[in-house]
Amino acid sequence: MIIQPKIRGFICTTAHPVGCAKNVQEQIEYIKTQPQVEGPKKALIIGASTGYGLAVRIAAAFGSHAATLGVFFEKPAIDNRTATAGWYNSVAFEKEARAAGLYARSINGDAFSDAVKAQTIETIRKDLGQVDLVVYSLASPRRTHPKTGEVFSSVLKPLGKPFRDKTVNFHTGIVSEVALDPGNDEDIRQTVAVMGGEDWEMWIHTLNEAGVLAQGAQTVAFSYIGPELTKAIYRDGTIGRAKDDLEVTAHQLSDYLAGSGGHAYVSVNKAVVTQSSSAIPVVPLYISLLFRIMKEMNLHEGCIEQMYRLLAEKMYRTDGTPVDGEGRIRLDDLEMRADVQDKVAMNWRSVDTDNLASLSDIEGYRSEFLRMFGFGLVGVDYEVDVDPR
Ligand code: NAD
Repeated sequence: MIIQPKIRGFICTTAHPVGCAKNVQEQIEYIKTQPQVEGPKKALIIGASTGYGLAVRIAAAFGSHAATLGVFFEKPAIDNRTATAGWYNSVAFEKEARAAGLYARSINGDAFSDAVKAQTIETIRKDLGQVDLVVYSLASPRRTHPKTGEVFSSVLKPLGKPFRDKTVNFHTGIVSEVALDPGNDEDIRQTVAVMGGEDWEMWIHTLNEAGVLAQGAQTVAFSYIGPELTKAIYRDGTIGRAKDDLEVTAHQLSDYLAGSGGHAYVSVNKAVVTQSSSAIPVVPLYISLLFRIMKEMNLHEGCIEQMYRLLAEKMYRTDGTPVDGEGRIRLDDLEMRADVQDKVAMNWRSVDTDNLASLSDIEGYRSEFLRMFGFGLVGVDYEVDVDPR
């Protein structure tokens, strides 16, 4: 069939297998142009099919010859419905990794469940013995608690007072005002349960108790801080409380792993276009303005550049991992530079529907959004019939 993008809100309900494979291929090619890293040798990546998790899997495999086991929640193609992008990405990744002589296997299921944790442990035992790196890169709107069965839903709300600011519909280019009522304690509880540190802690404890964490194993989860512009909705909002919880968990897990020489990090990454960030009000407008400035200043990075830096310049540096005062790895250093943020803030004040195209990189945003689903990649013939399976 001919596969076209079908956009519904901030998601695309179709994905192109050849385009997704090309996207993976391009990320692999990028890593191959970088110096090799003395990095992980056996890595478990939880949330490995898209965004940061896919990029770190590629960086570990092709930058450090790591065997990788990926966990994710994706849908295969059924009849004439395409698979999700993360499914195609993972098929393409495994094919490329195996062709390069690298171990690559994936587990598709709910990472929050005990069953998937048990299946992961079995696979590690059988195939790898132990892992020396565990990356936790889940982004999910919901979590079913494995012990109580309670279903939690995360919400994106400010706290304390109502929020009102600009946002963009990145498909139409219409800049409008968004107004959000503040969340309450229950919203915080729900969001922390989904995006906080409890499940990461469960993973590390379960893996360790099963004896599948190598001596000195490291683990990392991802956080975001961002500028004043997004503070009320992000870092000071319900999701920020979940990130606070994740960061506290990193300290607890570091204490837990210290006896075996291991460490747990939180890495504060930069804002990039992913399926998760597209869903947050205000953030796509901020990213569009940010991309324009960072591209103009030759500082632009996507997931793959960030994840290469995470391994090469941060976690596997021979002279120790540089962290901020709170013990966090900072990959958002370029985004947060004062000269970058001053320019973004200036453009934020004047941006509207009429000047959006000239002040921001909305075109770049749109094309990155479509690329996530395998559309708009150079060299892919979208008029050719493809089998979605
Ligand atoms: P993403 O949506 O691209 O990836 C999410 C991954 O989680 C996918 O592999 C998906 O299959 C998997 N997943 C979701 N629910 C699952 C479940 N129940 N079981 C198994 N797998 C499941 O997201 P992303 O933007 O790469 O986010 C990853 C992390 O990076 C998050 O913690 C996010 O907050 C953080 N982060 C993102 C940005 C950004 O701008 N996108 C910036 C800084 C930090």
